[in-house]
Order: sequence, then C-alpha cells, then structure tokens
Amino acid sequence: MSIEFSQYEALAADEATPPGRRSVRSVPVFTDLDGSDIALVIHAVVGARPGPVLALHTALHGSEWLVVDTLRRLVEGLDPAELSGAVLALPVANPVAFSSGTRNTLDESDSPDLNRSFGGEQTWIADQLGRAITAELYARADAVMDFHCGIWGSAMGSVTCGRDFNDPGVSERAFALATAFGLEHVRRSDLATRFPGPKSGVGYAGQVLGIPGVISEVGGAGFDPELEELWAQKNLRGIRGVLQELGVLTGPPPRADRILVYDGVVRVNPSTAGMLEPVFKPEDMMRVEVPRGTLLGRVWSPYTFEVVEELRAPVRGMVDMVCRDYPVRPGDWAYIMVDLDADGTHWVDRSVTT
Ligand SMILES: [Zn+2]
Repeated sequence: MSIEFSQYEALAADEATPPGRRSVRSVPVFTDLDGSDIALVIHAVVGARPGPVLALHTALHGSEWLVVDTLRRLVEGLDPAELSGAVLALPVANPVAFSSGTRNTLDESDSPDLNRSFGGEQTWIADQLGRAITAELYARADAVMDFHCGIWGSAMGSVTCGRDFNDPGVSERAFALATAFGLEHVRRSDLATRFPGPKSGVGYAGQVLGIPGVISEVGGAGFDPELEELWAQKNLRGIRGVLQELGVLTGPPPRADRILVYDGVVRVNPSTAGMLEPVFKPEDMMRVEVPRGTLLGRVWSPYTFEVVEELRAPVRGMVDMVCRDYPVRPGDWAYIMVDLDADGTHWVDRSVTT
C-alpha cells in the first residue's frame, strides 16, 4: 500500500522528538480534585529516515489494562535506526479511569466513556482527554491504532476497521492496515456511523481528520499465562505488520492467504447475575466453528448453586469473545459470536486486501 505521509517532518523538527532517538514527554491536561496533575505520557520513537507516523494508544478504557504491557514491549523493542518514519505511543490514554480500575471516568459526566467523547466540546474529564489526544497524538500521525482487550475474566480475538468513512480512501487504507495485522479474520464494519461511532477514537480520526485506523481487540486477563502470552505475541506481530504495511519497517506484513471478513456479530451475555462457568474453551476462540444452539456457558447462583441461565449460540458461527469463570452481573462480558450466515460475512483472497 502506498500511503501519503505528512507528519514526519514536523515531528523530527520538534526538539522534544528528535530523529534517530526515542523520547518521552508528559503533556498536562488538567489538575484533579486531590491536587494531582492528570497528564498524557507519550513515547516517541523517531526514525532517522522520513516516513509515516503511526500513533498507538492503549487503555482508553481504564479496565482494559493488559495491553499496556504490549505497548511497553513494542516501544522497548523498536530501534530508531530501523525505522523509516516514527511511532508515537500513549500507554495510558485514560489515566483517570485507569486509576479507578473502571471502563469510564467516575464523574457525573453525561459522556463518561472516553471512546465516545472525541470531538466533545465540554469540560468533562473525557472531553478534555479526547481533545488532548487529538492535539498531541492524532494531529501528529498518518495512521492510528487503538487497543482494547477483555476486562479481567474475559478476552477478545479480532481486529476491526471502518468501511463507512466519508472518504472511501480512508476506508480502503484502514482495511489494508487491518489485514496487515496478520489474523485470518477482520471485522469490517460501519465503525464511523454506527458502532462505536464518530466520537470513538478511531471513528473520529477517520471521519473528521481523515486518518486511517485499526482497532485491535485481542487478549484479556485472568487466563492461562501461556494463552495470554500468545495473545500478546499476536498483538506485537500485528503492530509490526501494520508498520511494515506503512513502510516504517521493512519486509512484507504477515498477511493471511485467505481472510474471513465479517460485520455481523451477536453478543451472548448474561441477563442475570451469578457465577459464569464457561463451557466453550478460551483457546478455541476464532478457531472453531460452533453450530447454532451450542451451549457456550452457564450462570449458577453462588447462593443456591442452581444453574440460573444457559448461554447458547444464537447463530452458527465463530466465537470472538470468551470468558473464564468469574462473577457477573446482567450484561457483563461472556461471549460474542461472528454470524457465519450473515449477509456481509465472506472470505476474501489476500490479493484483494492491498
Ligand atoms: Zn474498550
């Protein structure tokens, strides 16, 4: 893919982010009630040679902290001498929600979800963080990657890109980046106009700023350490694949020969509270086709030990979110299924992805 890049020159000319070097800077956003300064800490790895700038952030949602370690390993493993272009990495995009261990900021805001607050014009915490990320990260980038993962007890296994940006070129470039991640499946959805919408990070970057982006939702915490490491390696390989697609790193990206492209997904989450007991194995996520009606998991009462709910596959499909045994309340994460019989689900050859 040929991508036009425009941000490297300004970045390399900034004395805070010199070429051929790695650097860290702290950008103050506001002062919290306890007197602490809330800041964005941004790592820059700037190559000596010009090229595209990829911006990455983790923990937009404060409870999805496992991928912060992935970003640490990425930044520490990049050599500025091998880059044509640059990487900007923001490991804790939402320090307020991260410190409370919650998805959203716990203020009285009517938009406490940072991933629904980009472009917000109020002084709510999430609006201010969204503006700071836009100014300090998106405005300096040619492409973006946003990372989510399961909260403790749940895990996900796919990447998503938008197909509905006002500029079709942005959608095309986003799809090329998503397939360069190297998985055998890509969710290609109405990301900008439907979910997570134009006020999500990647939605806003693509729709308002014209910057292509990919959302990685791979991994989760509370599982077999070997399985968690496998997910971390998928993310690391995926990021390097995106950097190869952009030309920041040399070599071909690890694109699969055939890729399942889908949009139709169905959440299968509990409607009552209790102890969630998985039946579907986490290691089979996005690997095993499941017939309609298959028992995926059950919920039992921690008081009476009775099974109070069965979670069954509502469609024939692949399982794109898994869980371990953990206590849940209505709506908490259990399973997401890819509907293999939905209109938009189809296989594409690698040649049509670039
Ligand atoms: Zn998230």
